[in-house]
Amino acid sequence: MKKSGVTVILRFVLLLPAMASAAQEPKALPLPDERYKVDLLLVVAHPDDEGAATPYLARALDEHKRIAVVFGTRGSSGANEAGGEQAAALGAIREIEARNALTTLGLTNVWFLGGKDTASQNVLQSLANWDHGGSLEQLVRLFRLTRPEVILTFLPGTFIGEDHGDHQASGLLATEAFDLAGDPAAFPEQLAGPTKRLEPLLENLRPWQPKKIYYFPDADREDIFRGKGPDYSVKEISKSGKQPYWRMALDSFRAHQTQAKSFLDKIAQMDEAQIEKMATSDGGWTDALHFVLGKSLVGGSVTGDVFDGITPGAIPFARPDVSPELARPELSVELGGPYSFFAEFRRAHGLTNLPHPEPPEIALQAPGTLVIPLWVRNQTAKTQEITLAVALPTGWTTQAGTGKFTVAAKQVVATRIEITLPALTENGAKKQEPQEISVHADSNGQSIGETKLRVELRKRALPQ
Ligand SMILES: [Zn+2]
Repeated sequence: MKKSGVTVILRFVLLLPAMASAAQEPKALPLPDERYKVDLLLVVAHPDDEGAATPYLARALDEHKRIAVVFGTRGSSGANEAGGEQAAALGAIREIEARNALTTLGLTNVWFLGGKDTASQNVLQSLANWDHGGSLEQLVRLFRLTRPEVILTFLPGTFIGEDHGDHQASGLLATEAFDLAGDPAAFPEQLAGPTKRLEPLLENLRPWQPKKIYYFPDADREDIFRGKGPDYSVKEISKSGKQPYWRMALDSFRAHQTQAKSFLDKIAQMDEAQIEKMATSDGGWTDALHFVLGKSLVGGSVTGDVFDGITPGAIPFARPDVSPELARPELSVELGGPYSFFAEFRRAHGLTNLPHPEPPEIALQAPGTLVIPLWVRNQTAKTQEITLAVALPTGWTTQAGTGKFTVAAKQVVATRIEITLPALTENGAKKQEPQEISVHADSNGQSIGETKLRVELRKRALPQ
């Protein structure tokens, strides 16, 4: 092809600036702010939840790890032992308590997502109350800002235990952010940089893929979590603090006056020997910490150190391994609510090895009501009649939800069975052995499914 004169002139003109800039010193383009880069990001729900990890945070700080903490809420609907302030005023106080607790360890990079406290065991209620989408957007932003190597958070699942829906929500959001922060297609407005003036909302962040996520469960049982991650003694002496890690955690906890003033006043009157005696005899202060490995994108052994396999530098974005959808018969009945949600969640986030109780379980206040949420699926071409029945321990009674129903063709419908729970049988007992209850579903005289739930009755428990 013959070059035209115009092309030659154009080439010459374009080369001029390049030659001029080669003569001067190159200017460094702006990089992310190193002050906010962390090795470990702790994501919890309420001010004082960090206490579940403070002995480990103190240990990681001894290893020169950089750490930041994210809280889901300001704890505004908790109790206040220190004064009369309630609601948003209490939230303002508890935010400072959390910051002070972490300052004792030297941690100052602390953020709050703006979720609202939700006193229930149902994670779906917490998500609705936290503005799930807005909270997730903010958490992804913080992941991209702090570029954590490792995430530590509550285990997303439902168990007999405190089983706080907010705790579950923090672990759930952290897992979602783990899978989204590295995705260049997720929240792209955070990644776009302003190219001209009057684009003040574009954030110029970069995608960031964390390497590992670890969980700690909000459950009473320990059996299903053992061997699923590393254990850390809290009794070792900190190199920098010159005292055991549990003792540093206790000092950090002193900031939470609204949550434990009477306990902290007692501690303040004790000498070191008395504090040690108290800590080893009750309250779990000196129990080892057990973490569960959620996933690692850099290998390492399941029970190895949290930072096993972590080397400096970014890794490519990794889409989660979504496992195939469960094959279901054309007509089926299964547990709904948080139970079916968490099964879907584990599937969607490549967490099929995450420990969960089988059958599902819950602890409820007695006397009271148990609600069993159910999905009924009819993929056949005609309306089907089904019969729901429930087998209950003596003293428990069905209020509503059993009997004969019809489900239209090609429909998935939600229903619920309500059961009245009796008072605890033993006077003065705090709880009684969990009982297994089962829901039977029949259609045309044939069983189409049986669903089980283990239920523990307690003197006190969060609402279902
Ligand atoms: Zn909490």
